[in-house]
Amino acid sequence: MAIKGTDIVKRLPEGGKKNCKECGLPTCFAFAMKLASGGSAIEKCPYISPEVRSGLEDALAPPIRPVTIGTGANALVVGDETVLYRHEKTFVHQPGIAVLIADDESVEAVEGKIRKLKELKFGWVGQTLRADLLALQNKSGDPAKFTAIVNKVLPEVDCPLMLISQDTDALLAAHALCAGRKPLLYPVTAQNLEKVISAVKAKAAVLAVKGAGVESLVHLTKRLKEAGLEDILLDPGSRDLQSAVRDQTLIRRAALKQGFRALGYPTIAFPCFMTSDRRRETLLASMFIPKYAAVIVLSDIDEHSLLPLLVQRLNTYTDPRIPMSMEEKIYPINNPDAGSPVLITANWALTYFIVASEVEASKVPAWLCVKEAGGLGVLTAWAAGKFSGDSIAPFIRKCGIEGMVNHRRLVIPGKVARIRNELAEALPDWQIIVGPGDANEIPAYLPALVKSWKG
Ligand code: SF4
Repeated sequence: MAIKGTDIVKRLPEGGKKNCKECGLPTCFAFAMKLASGGSAIEKCPYISPEVRSGLEDALAPPIRPVTIGTGANALVVGDETVLYRHEKTFVHQPGIAVLIADDESVEAVEGKIRKLKELKFGWVGQTLRADLLALQNKSGDPAKFTAIVNKVLPEVDCPLMLISQDTDALLAAHALCAGRKPLLYPVTAQNLEKVISAVKAKAAVLAVKGAGVESLVHLTKRLKEAGLEDILLDPGSRDLQSAVRDQTLIRRAALKQGFRALGYPTIAFPCFMTSDRRRETLLASMFIPKYAAVIVLSDIDEHSLLPLLVQRLNTYTDPRIPMSMEEKIYPINNPDAGSPVLITANWALTYFIVASEVEASKVPAWLCVKEAGGLGVLTAWAAGKFSGDSIAPFIRKCGIEGMVNHRRLVIPGKVARIRNELAEALPDWQIIVGPGDANEIPAYLPALVKSWKG
């Protein structure tokens, strides 16, 4: 539970009555309020003692710690969630989907999985959906085989890695091979805890702790925190449907509702170890997306299992308060050239996809300029003042379309015909043409328009 400003102020110098203004705010109370809302940092007050500071840092930390697995552009951030139910606010960091490769699999199987991990990508509402991690398992029990598989995949994939071995020496040896990539190590248990702590302390790693039930995780995370290792994921060890959901929910509730720091970490789920039936495994994975796993490990992927999971993940983790929107830019359709017509629309994703598909169906090469309008459709954006002549004109000037075409004809949506005159005034060198009121008229409209230009 987040600490309140009124509780913070009592811990400030002179009980919150010093009011020296050195933090840039007029009073200690104002500083406390800002600190509670995340608008300021503890360091801004030079008079807070180290003990109070450490207590405040703890109290102000997110209830579920954000954890980064991997490095660079493909690093996966999980955790930092603040609500139990998505409708309360939003879920923040999508769970990573991991593909498992065991070191006793055939060369063909290993290469097939690596290929699928690299190639299975799906364009969806302006985003690219794909699996995120590769999990390598020392299933053979032979450390040399595990080292060999790690060495094989390291140069081939640039996604975050997970290393799984019951043999702690093999796990740590594999970690040494890829410590620069901050892999996820599994399992860290009561039996190997101290060995792992002393081996990874100076090296980058995320540690997935495994217990026999939720309670048993507590002393593991407390000890890791004492050792300064806080990039932690939790596996309560449950491997059947009901207990897995129960444990995921218990952990989330304890972190968010009771503010129980020892369980304030993202969790991991293993549908791959819960069933040997691939369809059942996909269904289990689909349960862990809303029920709260931050990493979900699958035994294999194909388009039929992966795409539905990725779409479910996208829908669950899309902020319901923010409309799906397209990037403001020029979208070429049907290989346009300098003589092709220029159309403009607003950036609600649904508007874009309907208009773009109708332009594509017209078979006329065209430039579709998509203007940022708060993710709203054309009429709503116009009503909100985000798709007016005054706002479209600067976009047309700066977006680069003037350098891409050899004419100055701009087709606006028929629904906002009323902006024609103000847009013509704002863009005096452009001819403003009112296009169809409905996108489904575009396939007939565009060929006729181009024909009329050619005389
Ligand atoms: S610098 Fe510290 S003591 Fe001074 S007003 Fe700000 S919070 Fe209060």
